[in-house]
Amino acid sequence: MKPPAPEKTITRSPKATTPAPPFIHKFRTKQHHYIYDVNTNRVFQVNSLVYELADLQDLDSPEAICMQFPEISPDEAELALDELREAAEKGWLSSHRPERLAFSPGKNLKEELADARYQQLILNVTENCNLRCDYCIYSGSYRDQRTHSDRSMNFELAQKALDRFMNNARDRVYISFYGGEPLSRFTVIKKIIRYTEMTFPQKTVNWSLTTNAVLISKEIAHYLMEKKVLLTVSLDGPQAVTDRHRKDTENRGVFARVMRSLELLRQADQETYDTTVQFSIVCAPPFNFAETERFFNENELVRGHQYSFSYMNATGCTPAMKPAQEQIERLNTEESNSRRLFVEDLKNRASEPESPASFAKSLYEKDFSDFYHRPKTPLGNEMYPNGCCTPSAQRLFVSVDGKFHICEKIDNAYPIGNIETGVDHQSVERFFDTYSELSRDCLNCWACRLCSLCFFNFISGGTFSAEHRSSECDYLKKRWDRLLRDYYTLLEQDEHALDHLAKKDRSIK
Ligand code: SF4
Ligand code: SF4
Ligand code: SF4
Repeated sequence: MKPPAPEKTITRSPKATTPAPPFIHKFRTKQHHYIYDVNTNRVFQVNSLVYELADLQDLDSPEAICMQFPEISPDEAELALDELREAAEKGWLSSHRPERLAFSPGKNLKEELADARYQQLILNVTENCNLRCDYCIYSGSYRDQRTHSDRSMNFELAQKALDRFMNNARDRVYISFYGGEPLSRFTVIKKIIRYTEMTFPQKTVNWSLTTNAVLISKEIAHYLMEKKVLLTVSLDGPQAVTDRHRKDTENRGVFARVMRSLELLRQADQETYDTTVQFSIVCAPPFNFAETERFFNENELVRGHQYSFSYMNATGCTPAMKPAQEQIERLNTEESNSRRLFVEDLKNRASEPESPASFAKSLYEKDFSDFYHRPKTPLGNEMYPNGCCTPSAQRLFVSVDGKFHICEKIDNAYPIGNIETGVDHQSVERFFDTYSELSRDCLNCWACRLCSLCFFNFISGGTFSAEHRSSECDYLKKRWDRLLRDYYTLLEQDEHALDHLAKKDRSIK
């Protein structure tokens, strides 16, 4: 086994007088000590003493170090200080922090919005749903969240939204249907697609739809496959797992009906089915993670597809849905096992340019790839929230009553205009100002260059919630700390273990 070569060595003047500590995150593998340096976006391997001293600014003489670490000799302390000095001279271990949040280099938000050309339109064609899933955010249990209703979008409203969108859209656009259950408005959806094809033939349109799949008939299946509609089908796992929480209005589980619909879609066009159907999985108490993983790896109708995986939103859920401590512990064990096997597999497959799709791969590989491809440019005075979109610049969500919102995840919390008057840039600016003001912690957060959280992770109960975001931040930082440990453990075992990521398609979801 060969230890990875440190990317560089370290620096900080022992007499540094800067009030802030170095902007770093320290982590260890079983073999070595490392420092992730935020300013350079690089990782350095260090010895255990340098590791301890790196953020202790007051220990700036061999005597002070020996007082604190009696087992260290003055010579060892002097050597460690030399290493820190040398690192500081090279600009590593800097305490520099960004001063403000910004959306994109060289442009302010006003300019960004003025130059924007839309890319995605999401039409909330109905607030009605044929199901009553236990964890549904529209169930009425979630504070300030809309509930299921009979309100739907009529064709005329959709037409106005489309005209306004296309007027300022790119040549290739994405148009999505969202609900409730959008397929309960299949006739309107067909009308919208026909209108778009006839009125805007010069545009390349990619259609997509998020569905519980229960209403898919043979006719609907053929239509969706013919139009190559990208389908996100909600399915939580095998029958026992799905039926526990995904139920119709008469409390009957829907698994069998979803599987029948998938079969109809596959029969309509197998090749299109393989490339256009993906799954949205919600993991809810009692959390059958391992069973779910097995199902998505083995069932021939669902294996090898793309998955988006999330945990049930526990903020505001009913007491009956609150997870018990032992369920959380079992979930953690199952998830850790899954991740460990994925990391081992990643190492074993190092020489293969493309490993087969799997549930674990779709859950974990993106972080490895993102870290591998991270820009190693110096951190400036502005921080760009990596995960955040520029609200309204590319994407518009239109509610059933014609109001514009940021996206389906933010839903109705912050209207930013409407189909009559267009996007209200001042609302967008106010939204971003509020976000920036409440996000000052990000400027001092070691994960700021790795973070993928966005406005959505900050909103709970229809408003910005520092408490909600704080738990999301903790989870994200733990995730990156674990990623760093796994990443460098792999490199310690084989310095080429991750070379294959260089060839990876950067659009992995
Ligand atoms: S299918 Fe979706 S919208 Fe309908 S009840 Fe279930 S979670 Fe809610
Ligand atoms: S999920 Fe976040 S980044 Fe994505 S569109 Fe919604 S607000 Fe923007
Ligand atoms: S983890 Fe939280 S504090 Fe850190 S950059 Fe992301 S959003 Fe900001």
